[in-house]
Amino acid sequence: MARRGPAVPEDRRQQDQDREQRLAALRVRLQAAAQDTRTAEDWARSLQAAARLPTETWANVLLISAQRPGATLVKGYAAWRAAGRHVNRNEQGIEVFSGPYQPKGNHRHPEDDEHGHSWRDADHVTYVWDLSQTSGQPLPARAALGLPAGAAPPGLWEALCWLARREGFAVEREPGCSDDGTTLWAARRIRVPPGLADSQTIWALAHQLGHVLLHNPTAPVPGTTTTGCRGVRKAEADSVAFITCLRHGIPIEHGFASPQTWTGSDPRAQPGASTCPSRNGRLDRSGRRGRLVR
Ligand SMILES: [Zn+2]
Repeated sequence: MARRGPAVPEDRRQQDQDREQRLAALRVRLQAAAQDTRTAEDWARSLQAAARLPTETWANVLLISAQRPGATLVKGYAAWRAAGRHVNRNEQGIEVFSGPYQPKGNHRHPEDDEHGHSWRDADHVTYVWDLSQTSGQPLPARAALGLPAGAAPPGLWEALCWLARREGFAVEREPGCSDDGTTLWAARRIRVPPGLADSQTIWALAHQLGHVLLHNPTAPVPGTTTTGCRGVRKAEADSVAFITCLRHGIPIEHGFASPQTWTGSDPRAQPGASTCPSRNGRLDRSGRRGRLVR
């Protein structure tokens, strides 16, 4: 039987062209999915999807949600086979960005699969399928979630403190800050007030870790803190806390501000909404539109 030789330059050019076209089409699809995220409810829905799909990039979370709303666990074809399941006949694959991935330090979880990378660095489009599109051996059940109001899973506080220490920040329980806690940048301390319900302490520490991981200044000015965070920075830190709590089954009620109020002059966001519900249900008239905080 004749074996096919190495691809000739013309074939290679065609393959490269096809790959670039598929990437370009998926970027357009991503842009559309992002533009569909207009309301506070849209934003919360995307965060809920991110909590269900913790190993996926944000871009792939949006793409998966757009193509398969309610997806709970996605893998590639071979990964499902390796897990003892197979993709059902005629199931349509979900298009996502893929490889190459350059892990940073030890942050990558060994269970992460090959499509966990930035969409900007993606060099091809691949397919994944949701658990609901497969059959076969049952998967190991996750520990039952559903904690009573105010409770938090054992060990989660300690795990978050460990993460803070890894980033070079000590965690202390001291009064004198809001229920979201505060981070003292120059002193490299995260402060969470005492007397909170366990669930609120998790929220506060995760909120501050959001600031630490996303907004840590390279040359902090002594005395500066995250107290009074607002705009994009508050939305990002709240989002980290929201995903963390959801992922660990902590019941939360959080009213996000509409993305229109914190996306500044980004033309992809519709102008409007000068009021938004705060966490306490009051109306916040801070007028956050106009510029990006970061
Ligand atoms: Zn904050």
